[in-house]
Amino acid sequence: MKLRTYIAILLSSVFVLFAGASEVIKRLVLRPSFEQIERNTAKDDGKRAVAAVNRELKALDGTAIDLGMWDDAYSFMQKYDESFIQKNYAKGSYFVDRTFAILMYIDTNGSVQWQHMCNPRTGELQTFAAFAGPKLPASHPVLAQLAEGDSLTGIFETEHGPLLVGVRHVLKADGSGPSRGRVVLARPLDETMIEDISEQAGVKFSVWSQTTSADEDVKAAAKELTYAEAVMTSVDEEANVAMNYRLLPMLIGRPMVLRSETPRHFSTRGNDVIEFAQLSQIAAAGLAVNVGILLVHSRVSGPLSRLSKALKRVGETGDLTLHFRMARRDEIGEVASEIEKMLAKLAESQDAVVQASRHAGMAEVAANVLHNVGNTLTNSIVLTSEIQSTLRNSRTAGLAKAVEMLKQQANDLPEFIANDAKGKQLPAYLIKAGDAVMAEHATLVGDAEKLERSLAAVQDIIRAQQSVDGPTEVLQSVELSDTIDGALAVIEPSFLRHRVKATRTVDRNVRTMLDRSRFQQVLVNLLTNAVQACKVASEKHRFVQIEAGIASPTTFFVEVRDGGVGFDDARKAKLFTQGYTTRDDGHGLGLHYCANAIKQMNGTISASSDGPGLGATFRIELPIRLEGLADEPVQAEQDGRKAA
Ligand code: ADP
Repeated sequence: MKLRTYIAILLSSVFVLFAGASEVIKRLVLRPSFEQIERNTAKDDGKRAVAAVNRELKALDGTAIDLGMWDDAYSFMQKYDESFIQKNYAKGSYFVDRTFAILMYIDTNGSVQWQHMCNPRTGELQTFAAFAGPKLPASHPVLAQLAEGDSLTGIFETEHGPLLVGVRHVLKADGSGPSRGRVVLARPLDETMIEDISEQAGVKFSVWSQTTSADEDVKAAAKELTYAEAVMTSVDEEANVAMNYRLLPMLIGRPMVLRSETPRHFSTRGNDVIEFAQLSQIAAAGLAVNVGILLVHSRVSGPLSRLSKALKRVGETGDLTLHFRMARRDEIGEVASEIEKMLAKLAESQDAVVQASRHAGMAEVAANVLHNVGNTLTNSIVLTSEIQSTLRNSRTAGLAKAVEMLKQQANDLPEFIANDAKGKQLPAYLIKAGDAVMAEHATLVGDAEKLERSLAAVQDIIRAQQSVDGPTEVLQSVELSDTIDGALAVIEPSFLRHRVKATRTVDRNVRTMLDRSRFQQVLVNLLTNAVQACKVASEKHRFVQIEAGIASPTTFFVEVRDGGVGFDDARKAKLFTQGYTTRDDGHGLGLHYCANAIKQMNGTISASSDGPGLGATFRIELPIRLEGLADEPVQAEQDGRKAA
């Protein structure tokens, strides 16, 4: 994973965690506290609504005082007087103007002195069953026990809806009695009235009957509200209001339920604020993440990736002269400059290594040259000693003696040859000695030629190393069989000396471009090793077979097989290692040289043996290189002939 991605994931996770935490805080802390505030507000609102209704009852009580503690009414109660009615209550709009639904004067026994019941919104007459009839029963709530100066107020449920009812004793205007009965006054607690009260109190509310209402919430609340001051608050998520339920003061019957509604401004505003805060947090966090990523990219991952690209380039090209050009003083700048320093040091030590390996290479080359020269010179020395022994055993001495004899008898040569015992043998001796000297001469010429070839090979080896660049490949067009012959010619004296029989089976038509000298050195090495491996073997096993030909459409092969000491697998693994030798006078350079040379020629070399004492086979495969060759078909034709 790239550093940039890693940091992006990290910052995003922090961001998500942060958003999650703020959501949790919102749900577990903020929301509940908003709700609590709203419940408290709803309670206050409910309280104010009930207070407003009570104020309304109080106002009604005030009017009842006006209509009860009044001398005219006091007299009217003593003696019915139509003019009192006409004067005070006959005006058509009296009840509508004051929204009075009921006004009645009843005497101390409950008998109705006068009463008026109507729809206070229209003025139409309307009977309220509970107040109808000439006499109210003694159990009627408006007749409940009441001290003279006291008031009786409350709500009364009727078939036309709830009424606010106020009751006062009818007394003299100065408040003295005795009471001549009661004045009963009622106003409807209808929707219009509730709206008015709501407006004044600044609380929206509604009034519900426990007996007739089917509203489930009201029923549930009514169950909870078991005493006068009981309060219940609930939150309607859908309508987004908090509701407070309270009981209203009744004159009689099951208390009516007042339900005030408080809009949840807090939650709404609060949620808006929280959401805004969350959104701005998200935006800020998003911005921070992006800025963070950008910063990290521009200050950290960008430079690091440039650094890693540059280092990759170093790896690919090996160019250690790299400059990052980071004008920074922070850790990354330090890392870059340290890496630059390291690369510079590396370059220095690389130069040193190159220098050292050049020296080592030169040493190896020198060792190889000496080895190959040694191989070839061994054969030259063998040849030289052959020549020496031929000369030592030469018949020329005998011939010289015979010639001396001839010189002494020069005056009578015919007599000497015809009659002298020695002279008689001389012609035959001369003929024989002449033949022998001729043969010796031929041998010496042959050996001299071989010596010349052997020394030329030495010269080749040395010349190849003299080029300035060291041993480079010198391609020339060759016939494989010729090249093998050349190698065999160089090694031939060793074969002869150790009485090792060499045979060859070579395809005479393989032609290729090849570094002839180098290839011959490889063959000379393999053949020298083969002779060394055979020389201690029994007569039967002192043989070397050379086979060569086409291996595949693009390669040719040469196999050198011997009947010598062979090797086991453990030895086999070490054969081509520099310095590995099992011979007292060996250096362990030959096969190592062969492996390197064949590799440089893009070929392969392998060794195999059936085991110690069972001979060995070395096989070379090399590409046939046609570029630069005259267009001649390459065909496999077997040619078996003995080489030595
Ligand atoms: P050297 O001839 O100086 O020992 P080489 O690299 O030519 O070095 O050979 C390494 C070793 O490989 C030899 O000492 C010998 O043990 C083994 N070896 C090479 N050629 C043969 C072979 N034809 N048969 C058996 N062993 C061989």
